[in-house]
Amino acid sequence: MLTSEIGTFEEKGGTIIFFLSKKGIAVVDSQFPDQSKHLIDALGKRSKEEFKLLINTHHHGDHSSGNISFKGIVGHVLAHENSLKNQKNVAIANKSEDKQLYPDQTYSTIWCQKVAKENICLYYYGAGHTDGDSFVHFEHANIVHCGDLVFNRRHPFVDRGAGANMKSWIEVLNKGLNKFDKKTTYVFGHSGSGYEIKGTADDVNKFRDYIGNVLKFVEGEMKAGKTKEELLKVTLIPGSEDWKTDGIQRPLEAAWGELGGK
Ligand SMILES: [Zn+2]
Ligand SMILES: [Zn+2]
Repeated sequence: MLTSEIGTFEEKGGTIIFFLSKKGIAVVDSQFPDQSKHLIDALGKRSKEEFKLLINTHHHGDHSSGNISFKGIVGHVLAHENSLKNQKNVAIANKSEDKQLYPDQTYSTIWCQKVAKENICLYYYGAGHTDGDSFVHFEHANIVHCGDLVFNRRHPFVDRGAGANMKSWIEVLNKGLNKFDKKTTYVFGHSGSGYEIKGTADDVNKFRDYIGNVLKFVEGEMKAGKTKEELLKVTLIPGSEDWKTDGIQRPLEAAWGELGGK
């Protein structure tokens, strides 16, 4: 638990936040169907309230494929309009539309709703990890779910096929850092081993700098005439050596493509 009413759930996939209030339960992200069933069972032992709202920070399967476990028991499912578009595109391509519970509510730039004493607000600041990522702010508790806009000391997936953009991602993180304050607790979609799924503005700053460092490094390597194959052999990003996990090729390849490499 982060407060008496708000906690995180980790099993398999992107971090979930749940909010237990006297006016209903809200959940942010749903991992996979089994994980959501485990969460629903566990929360049922703590609260008799109904599930009022399920929010998806974005469409990726490790954040939204558990939605289906909330079918018939949740009041509304909410996400950014591009998250819904992306979820549909992927489900149609994978012939898995019957396994989806799509958002029935979407928004474009800002969405807020009061639930008991909490005010839950979603903010969309443009393309980042995809083109449909929201910051979800629990204002009273001052907790923000960043979804996959922040990978804490872990190399991120950059979904260019779903509109991701690393240069814009830096601006999105700056806008979030300006919107929230020094006391805000940030919850991250994923973290590297030994690092927490929650942190402070300092961790968000470090991840923003990491994205900048990846772009700067790849640009330098391009100018030095390196091939893509040579680039992908790199094991650390200069200036962001805390990022040591597998998967460094994904941001390198994304930056290469975004900077016009073939
Ligand atoms: Zn994720
Ligand atoms: Zn993701």
